[in-house]
Amino acid sequence: MNISELLKNCDKTELSFEILPPLRGNSIETIYSTLDPLMEFKPRYINVTYHREEVTYKELKGGLLKPIVQKRRSGTVGITAAIKHKYNTEVVPHIICGGFTKHETEEALIDFSFLGINNLLIVRGDPLKTEVQFSAKSGGHRYAVDLIEQITNMNKGVFLDDTIEQCFPTDFCMGIAGYPEKHIESPNENQDMDILKQKIDAGAKYIVTQMFFDNSKYFDFVNRCRKAGITAPIVPGLKPVSLKSHAAILPKIFHIDIPDNLAKEIGRCKDNSEVRKLGIEWTKSQSKELKRAGVPCIHYYTMGKADNIYNIVKDVF
Ligand code: FAD
Repeated sequence: MNISELLKNCDKTELSFEILPPLRGNSIETIYSTLDPLMEFKPRYINVTYHREEVTYKELKGGLLKPIVQKRRSGTVGITAAIKHKYNTEVVPHIICGGFTKHETEEALIDFSFLGINNLLIVRGDPLKTEVQFSAKSGGHRYAVDLIEQITNMNKGVFLDDTIEQCFPTDFCMGIAGYPEKHIESPNENQDMDILKQKIDAGAKYIVTQMFFDNSKYFDFVNRCRKAGITAPIVPGLKPVSLKSHAAILPKIFHIDIPDNLAKEIGRCKDNSEVRKLGIEWTKSQSKELKRAGVPCIHYYTMGKADNIYNIVKDVF
């Protein structure tokens, strides 16, 4: 199934879930326990995020700190194939620029193609915590648009090694990230929109938004995209708040606003279980309005927690 075709042709609002690979050391059962209850709602596809390496420090005798570079969440390729096999559903791995050379990316894409995984979400990846600015691995891509171009070439049978005369053309359908509240590094909304358009022109077929808590931001973003000539489907991404600390942490990590009334209501909650209930109700109401507006699909960021998403989706779909 080609997701952009699905999104263009659906006659009702579909739903999709996004999961994270488990923390290193955990088994795939943690993924199944998140997904098992949610599969009742027949999501049209499931996204699996990709996490690059992080630097942590181990304290040695004498107080010296030894840097350790490793991925805390590995296994995107294996998880993607395992979910497809177990649930017989469409799975969308995220492919990032960060930490990869173009050749390593080509290797991963050949694996996905052989596994029959033809839908991808293409993002650049964030800078490492130790970096002020994102830096590409030597021989890797600087921007998501460059990675999209590589994949568009593969879809035409053009691989990196141009001495091979005939390469099989891949059949990847690419989604990309969109930011209703602008990407943090974009100097302004217009440039952000230009970049989004460049990515569509390079071969991306649909957009999944960063989370937002005020639907007017999504509607405004869709209007601005349409004015810029972007006709691709735009899937809203939603995440329920569930912790008191989310009021401060989500804006910091994702560069999004928590609307005034939501922030005040979080502040009035006695504990996290109250925030959880508030988050469920808030996301339900966002979902219902988006559904009434006829969005092609609602994409729920599970962050590895199924029960709040279950309660939302049960009421909305
Ligand atoms: P880009 O499109 O490359 O843009 C990054 C910045 O560079 C923007 O400010 C843009 O304006 C600027 N820019 C882009 N192209 C050019 C150019 N040609 N010239 C000048 N400036 C340019 N991160 C992960 O690590 N793993 C994931 O699985 C993951 N999944 C995500 C899923 C979604 C739906 C979203 C919204 C984000 C996800 N992210 C993920 C986070 C993402 O990697 C970051 O937001 C990242 O900072 C930007 O990614 P991008 O693809 O939008 O980058």
